[in-house]
Amino acid sequence: MHELAIAQSIVDAVEAKASECNAVRVKAVRLKIGEASGVVTDSLSFCFEMLTSLEPTLAGAKLLIDSMPHRAFCHHCDHEFSVTNFVAQCPTCKEWSNEIVSGTELQILEMEFEA
Ligand SMILES: [Zn+2]
Repeated sequence: MHELAIAQSIVDAVEAKASECNAVRVKAVRLKIGEASGVVTDSLSFCFEMLTSLEPTLAGAKLLIDSMPHRAFCHHCDHEFSVTNFVAQCPTCKEWSNEIVSGTELQILEMEFEA
């Protein structure tokens, strides 16, 4: 279950930032997660809740997730298309694309603190 390790990294990063900002409490954390990142968001939310409940600064912090669709760009016919089941093949010209536009991200977008 690698969501626990990911949640731990997120909690660590948020905690570091919170102490840097002298925040008393973390109200919310917003993440951007691509649908091809391999992260199960329900499981990540669960782990995040479990870990944050142990930290006074983070207890009750909301986890907001922006889900990003898996999309690629075709240079052959110059258009963007959605990738289904990890097959980045252009539906129009059938060329394979190696340019992923979105869907693989896993990052913290913003955090809301209470000072
Ligand atoms: Zn194409």
